[in-house]
Amino acid sequence: MQKQSLAGRVIRLQADFYYVDTPQGVVTCHMRGRLKRGIGWTDIVAVGDNVNITLQSEGSGMIEDVIPRKNALVRLDPRPRGVYQQVLLANPDQVVLVFACAQPEPHLRMLDRFLVVCEKQGIPILIVANKTDLVGVDQARQMFAMYPPIGYPLLLASAKTGYGLAELEQTFRGRISALAGPSGAGKSSLLNAIHPLLDLKVGEISQFTQRGRHTTVVRQMYALEGGGYVADMPGLRSLALWDTQPEELDGYFPELRPLVSQCQFNNCAHQTEPGCAVRRAVEEGQVHPERYESYLRLRFGERGDWDE
Ligand code: GDP
Ligand code: ZN
Repeated sequence: MQKQSLAGRVIRLQADFYYVDTPQGVVTCHMRGRLKRGIGWTDIVAVGDNVNITLQSEGSGMIEDVIPRKNALVRLDPRPRGVYQQVLLANPDQVVLVFACAQPEPHLRMLDRFLVVCEKQGIPILIVANKTDLVGVDQARQMFAMYPPIGYPLLLASAKTGYGLAELEQTFRGRISALAGPSGAGKSSLLNAIHPLLDLKVGEISQFTQRGRHTTVVRQMYALEGGGYVADMPGLRSLALWDTQPEELDGYFPELRPLVSQCQFNNCAHQTEPGCAVRRAVEEGQVHPERYESYLRLRFGERGDWDE
């Protein structure tokens, strides 16, 4: 008898089990042995992957193919036999970076670092400034004012008062979103406020991501009522800049990118070189000094500067 085939999306993985969301509901699957052969440097199947499965007689499924990813949020994991590319989320449509306006104070150097990571991985970004109730909407907008002009959309929100939540829900709709941000910023509170059915414990996301790194980790994304999925991501800290070459860093700052070719030296590091168009733009107020500071710290600073 011909086995029934279904297309679906991997929404959870736990040890050797893959939970695949299909038009017939969620099917627990294993991966066909031949898919595992020959690849040792990255995850063959990850949360967010589109797959084709066949239904087995006992109601479970078998993953037969993985559709090539359009992009992925990847963490490089150095191992004895080389660097392993761990896929945190396949096919994300956006990364939603949640920072609190207060409690805790927003750490914009950390935000900038994460923006660079997303730029490098080619993933669109939405910045959410949560807890606007603590500082007022005007001050909240001001705190993050440097971002919209350089192309990063900003959404002001409060999980407590509901401010901005309709808009936030709209951006989740029909998309795969990765939710990231420092612990305490309000990620679980925002998700709960939008989708009470998820019923995440406040604080749960951060605890979840601090668990071990390898096989014991459960990775998942939540299916949203309005369509779309949202996945919680590990703390920003663990997404270092790994293989970024110092010379390519200015390319991941959208406001510096067009200036670089105007520097006097084509290998300008934009620090002390004469005729530097970047420094001139900072002095003339076209580039925000704090963003320039972030660039310098990422390029020349101690790695530890970023692990706060
Ligand atoms: P997470 O670690 O990012 O998931 O943050 P949580 O959702 O666990 O929230 C951390 C703390 O901030 C909790 O005590 C929440 O009640 C509180 N919180 C979350 N959102 C808001 C908000 O919009 N306003 C205020 N005042 N507190 C909030
Ligand atoms: Zn320069």
